[in-house]
Amino acid sequence: EERLVGCESRIEDYDEVGLRPRKLHEYIGQNKVKENLKVFIEASKQRNEALDHVLLYGPPGLGKTTLAGIIASELGVNIRITSGPAIEKPGDLAAILTNLGNFDVLFIDEIHRINRSVEEILYPAMEDYALDIIIGKGPSARSIRLDLPKFTLIGATTRAGLLTSPLRDRFGVINRLEMYTIDELMLIVKRSAGILGMGIDEDGAREIASRSRGTPRIANRILKRVRDFAQVKADGYISRDVAQMGLDALEIDPIGLDGVDRNMLLSIINKFGGGPVGLDTLAASIGEEADTIEDVYEPYLLQLGFINKTPRGRMATRLAYDHFGIKE
Ligand code: ADP
Repeated sequence: EERLVGCESRIEDYDEVGLRPRKLHEYIGQNKVKENLKVFIEASKQRNEALDHVLLYGPPGLGKTTLAGIIASELGVNIRITSGPAIEKPGDLAAILTNLGNFDVLFIDEIHRINRSVEEILYPAMEDYALDIIIGKGPSARSIRLDLPKFTLIGATTRAGLLTSPLRDRFGVINRLEMYTIDELMLIVKRSAGILGMGIDEDGAREIASRSRGTPRIANRILKRVRDFAQVKADGYISRDVAQMGLDALEIDPIGLDGVDRNMLLSIINKFGGGPVGLDTLAASIGEEADTIEDVYEPYLLQLGFINKTPRGRMATRLAYDHFGIKE
């Protein structure tokens, strides 16, 4: 099922590139991460070394790819973008690595999905900037070591725990991206509206920001849908009314929940007596993948305090009952 509030990137986000900040100072929020990175980037430039490998983790749409691009741009180097599943064979990765320039950034999205044989090539590459190649077969096989350019690997994943520990241990910098506050999302929405050439007022921006579940990708996506209402009903200007009209038509409620969220919460409440219910049972009952629930739906519901994760499963909280006006 396709959801407007889903945070995975989709084909309609193709023009996301134009909305992407390119420098650190344009990147809104994530202040702790930015402050740290600024220091590490500066230090590596002063020492004339490659920046240490960076792992970025957090739910989709929070700005991991954007940040990787910014790091490369602040370092003044090229970035090569790929993803775990796209690198099928060790040779694919070897080809990418040997083609990097000194100090370049290699960005691997969904790095947790990289396959085992490819991952093993990464270890010496990350640690020693070297590639171990086996030549020949059987008893006459020998290994030769090729030097690689000094590069920075930036890995992105939804949860750091999805990585094997040898891989995780090879990242010098590990940063978790947090969900954005409404004020931060308002800045993002206003910036994007400006780039798209639309007028928007504070209330309009707040309306979109409050329903974007802490996620810039969703904020931008809603903005683009609301744009149509603004164009047809309000001369291209986004006021609170226009934003509300758009959001109601999209069936996103005032706190950003859509049909699937409601279904999931009501399922915990009504079918499982408020929980605890195991992730797999819950997934089956609403017809979604357990992984999708964990990576995409649940982070925001946890953030809202609508569900609790317990060792025996997910539970709906008082706040969730209140939201639906159901008595516990
Ligand atoms: P991820 O890689 O974590 O899935 P992206 O980096 O693709 O997320 O971000 C999705 C979109 O959200 C980008 O196109 C960008 O426009 C916007 N975005 C993300 N983070 C920020 C931010 N900190 N400031 C402004 N825009 C952002």
